Amino acid sequence: MESGFPMSPYESDPADRLVTASADGEDQAVEAALRPKLLEEFIGQERVREQLSLVLQAARKRGAAPDHVLLSGPPGLGKTTLSMIIAAELNAPIRITSGPAIQHAGDLAAILSSLTEGEVLFLDEIHRMSRPAEEMLYMAMEDFRVDVIVGKGPGATAIPLELPPFTLVGATTRAGLLPPPLRDRFGFTGHMEFYAPAELQRVVHRSAGLLDVEIDPAGAAEIAGRSRGTPRIANRLLRRVRDFAQVRHDGLVTREIAAQALEVYEVDARGLDRLDRAVLEALLKLFGGGPVGLSTLAVAVGEEAETVEEVAEPFLVREGLLARTPRGRIATAAAWQHLGLTPPQSARAPKAAPGGQQNGLWAEGQG
Ligand code: ADP
Repeated sequence: MESGFPMSPYESDPADRLVTASADGEDQAVEAALRPKLLEEFIGQERVREQLSLVLQAARKRGAAPDHVLLSGPPGLGKTTLSMIIAAELNAPIRITSGPAIQHAGDLAAILSSLTEGEVLFLDEIHRMSRPAEEMLYMAMEDFRVDVIVGKGPGATAIPLELPPFTLVGATTRAGLLPPPLRDRFGFTGHMEFYAPAELQRVVHRSAGLLDVEIDPAGAAEIAGRSRGTPRIANRLLRRVRDFAQVRHDGLVTREIAAQALEVYEVDARGLDRLDRAVLEALLKLFGGGPVGLSTLAVAVGEEAETVEEVAEPFLVREGLLARTPRGRIATAAAWQHLGLTPPQSARAPKAAPGGQQNGLWAEGQG
């Protein structure tokens, strides 16, 4: 950000936000203890769970490694957890790596050639693997074989190497980015969805039990409602609420204490944080609800356009608070309501103007 801009409402790295869905250092340290170990302990994702359970049971019956599994969905929803569950249910060891860690085909060859029979290979962010590694993976997935290239140029020779049967579990936040030949080699794709509040409440309750935090159902519901449909965020908010409950109260987490704690951390009732609210407030207060261009909106909140677009907007759009239109960003009725503001007359009393996208949205949002 250039100097001379207004103070950023979000001075630190957006990845450090309390409501980010990616794992921070603390998450990594505690997550292991919070992960469900078996399919029946895994909360929500009913469809994926049922489908996966069939795949695993059938494989166990046949006494063979199951088909390769692709898990797609936003971060923090349980893809890594599910891969570990798959291994546990198969009683198989698991090897964990990620696309960005495999930059050369040789890196992948080294991993593949050291797998044992039936092992589960978890490849996170599989869409970020390099092209040569990806091509090697095709053959490994299909024929349990890789060609190791020895030498360079015209004298290079391919030495075929047999691999033991293994199960690849690939995870991606963007299934659409996977090249079709890779996608087609998975026998099963599980699409993970954001969790419903009641499911997240169960996640919070379960984690509280494991962390020895006393919590009542309303307290768990309050945390769940602010967790953006994401178990990782729910677990993180729970830890911050626990701190607050222990330092300022007697440790018991009630609805009121959860709400007070998350107010301190600036996570509002709907899970919006300071950056999200700054964007919405600028859109409503400075631009009357829009439409306003992304770069103008970004300057108004003292952020990079990219940060606004990639960090704040996806959740605001998902929540139906902001819409992206060809004319710019506009606020919905729900946005005005959420910030407790009254929309200007023009937005409140829409004329039946043809093509009035903004009006249409306002009318829709009313319901
Ligand atoms: P991803 O790999 O999709 O980013 P993870 O599997 O690492 O997500 O899950 C993040 C955290 O959320 C873990 O600590 C895990 O315990 C918790 N979690 C995810 N899904 C569930 C679930 N269905 N039930 C309980 N906890 C879950």
